[in-house]
Parts: sequence; C-alpha cells; structure tokens
Amino acid sequence: MPKFLNPALSRREMLAGGAAFLTLAGAGLKPSFAASGPIALGDMEVQVLSDGHLTLPMGFVLPDQTKEEVADLLTPHGMATDALTPDCNVTMLRTGDRLALFDVGSGANFQPTAGELLSALEAAGIGPADVTDVIFTHGHPDHLWGVLDDFDEPLFADAQYWVPQAEWDYWLADDTLANTPEERKTFVVGAQSRFEAIKDQVNMITPGMEVLPGVEAIDTSGHTPGHTSYMLHGGGDSLLVVGDAISNSVISFEKPTWHSGTDQDPDKGVKTRTALLDRLATDRTKIIGYHLPHPGQGVAERNGTAYRFVAAG
Ligand SMILES: [Zn+2]
Repeated sequence: MPKFLNPALSRREMLAGGAAFLTLAGAGLKPSFAASGPIALGDMEVQVLSDGHLTLPMGFVLPDQTKEEVADLLTPHGMATDALTPDCNVTMLRTGDRLALFDVGSGANFQPTAGELLSALEAAGIGPADVTDVIFTHGHPDHLWGVLDDFDEPLFADAQYWVPQAEWDYWLADDTLANTPEERKTFVVGAQSRFEAIKDQVNMITPGMEVLPGVEAIDTSGHTPGHTSYMLHGGGDSLLVVGDAISNSVISFEKPTWHSGTDQDPDKGVKTRTALLDRLATDRTKIIGYHLPHPGQGVAERNGTAYRFVAAG
C-alpha cells in the first residue's frame, strides 16, 4: 500500500510529508511570497515574513473621528479614507539552535487576503518542523488563528508555545464571551479553541521575563489586556517587536492620542502608545510593527508634539 494511503499514518505525519513535498516542488522557483532580507543583531538573525494583508473599515479603526479629520490626516499621504489595508508582518528570529516566530498570522479562516505565512516559510526554505518556538503578542485572529493546521492541530507540532499570562487568562475567563460585543464574539471563540489546542505545549510569559536568551517581554497592554511586545537584545543593539501597540504608520505616529477602535481598552491603548513612542524616539530603537508597511521595519522620530515613522531604507 502506498505510504500516503496507510491509515496508520498520523495526521501530523501526513502534514509533515505534504510540507516536505511542497518544499521540494518549490525548489528552484522564484519565491513569490514576501520576506525581508535578514537583519543581524549580534549573533541573532531577524527576518520578516508576510502573512498577507487585511481590510479594516475606517469606521471600525477610528470610531471617534469625523470624516473631515480622517481625510485631513490621510489624504496628504495618498491613503484611502474608507478603509485601511494593513500588512501583516511575522517576525522570525534565529538565535543559537532556536528558530522562533512572533505570532503566526491568520490562517485560512479570517480574511481571504491573509493566511500566507506557511507559503512564506516554504519560500524561505523553512518547514513547520524547523520552528522551535512560537511567541505570541496577543490573541487576536490575525496573530493567533494561523496556529492550527487543516486538521485543527498545532501547525508547529513540536514547537514550544509562549503566551502572555494575562492574555491567556483573559481569553479563557468564564465571562469573557458574555462581556464581548456581538460583532467580536468570534474573536473569543477562536482564541479559546486555539489556546485549547496548544495547552499541552504552552509556557506562560510575565512582563520583564527573558523568554529566550536576549528576548525580553515588555508589557504593552491596552490593545488587549495582556498585549506584550518583545525587545531583542544582541551585539549591543536592540530591536522591538511591537505587535499592535503601534498599528498604523500614519495614524499611530501623527495622532497617537486618537482612540483606536482595534484597541480593546482605547484609553489604555493611548497611554501605552504615547509612552512607548516617547521611549522609542528617545532611544532610537529599531522596531518591527506587525501592521506597518511590509516589512514593518524602521524607527520613530519626534515631529513637533507627535511622531513620524521612518521606514528602514
Ligand atoms: Zn490586534
């Protein structure tokens, strides 16, 4: 019997076999999925992979601003005023014998233009079995839902998963579903099923913890109750994997005090964002923003009373 028809073959073996086939089949083809060139940070190597992009209606993103305020800000940048189409940037870190991903994208069940991480990994010559650690910033669909494969099992079968404790506790709390507005209840159901699937492989993160050597957890809650960014330290330099604490290259920098409809606690989101931008501009820290224009790399500069994003050249 051909091996692929063997009913004793586990789903994971089938998936691993399939991934190996795809990698071989793709060898020699020009990668069609975006990945940045690697950045060196001492002995660390950082690369950004694209999970695709989302479409977010402007009324959802900026619920408290008038159409005129939105147009005054975005039109000079040549941006549409009816919706944002943010990129989704997954940061990959190689350090020692570890290969870590920060978030895993949307998977197949969120928006049709996202969920490309697996293809981006394959184009970079990386299979799911190569990933040793998956570190989450927070539990929103576009960061977490890609953790399951087509059989609803962990895509990175042998990896260690790392979740901020406050994030884990929030999404799994008994009253979270009831306390969530109707239009976002799927976020809760989706997070709960995914956390349930990884519960035997999960480690909890608390602020200030060194998750992996040179990877420091920074509390940036507000966007979600346990939202966490990660400062990478290597070779005397540092780089912040921001997640969604700063989410748009124009709005977050020029109007950091505007409420963001994607922040679950908009007031706390503003406090976190303004404090973070002040620190990043002062220290000239390199950043990778999950939703900044791909590959999301650059720095925050002061600009009068606000800031501007300067993309890495
Ligand atoms: Zn988010």
